[in-house]
Amino acid sequence: MGTKGRALVGEHADKIIELLNKALSDEWLAYYQYWIGSKVVKGPMKDAVITELTEHATDELRHADMLVARILELGGTPVLSPEEWLKITNCGYDKPDDPVVKKVLEQNIKGEQCAIEVYNSLLKFTRDIDPVTYNIVLQILTDEVEHEEDLQALLEDLEVMK
Ligand code: FE
Ligand code: FE
Ligand code: MG
Repeated sequence: MGTKGRALVGEHADKIIELLNKALSDEWLAYYQYWIGSKVVKGPMKDAVITELTEHATDELRHADMLVARILELGGTPVLSPEEWLKITNCGYDKPDDPVVKKVLEQNIKGEQCAIEVYNSLLKFTRDIDPVTYNIVLQILTDEVEHEEDLQALLEDLEVMK
């Protein structure tokens, strides 16, 4: 931790660390949901869907990396065990137990919409108090908005096929 860097954020550091840890738990759950979804998904347009799910999984893991780096910079402790993920997550986990393309896409769209809300409120919270976290959150939010649109486009293509 850099002392001046943390001092910049002042009394808000602990709250920001808490919010970043919640988002970190979301990212790991989203990563696994995409990754396992890409393995079990079946149905029409399967190949295109697998490609997209796999890319998104990689993005979620990168988001986790960005969040951990910031938590450490602020002198915080990142979530250290998977049991904590489900306890502090904002967006939860939707298991793909009915892994047809349409269902898997819908589950992940719901996850992205939750992520968009979470990062948008984190953006508002950090705007005037922590420009460094703000910048990281803005990059992640930009990806989540793209993720939602990618999945909805696939779902539209699927509808057209019928
Ligand atoms: Fe993400
Ligand atoms: Fe995403
Ligand atoms: Mg994509």
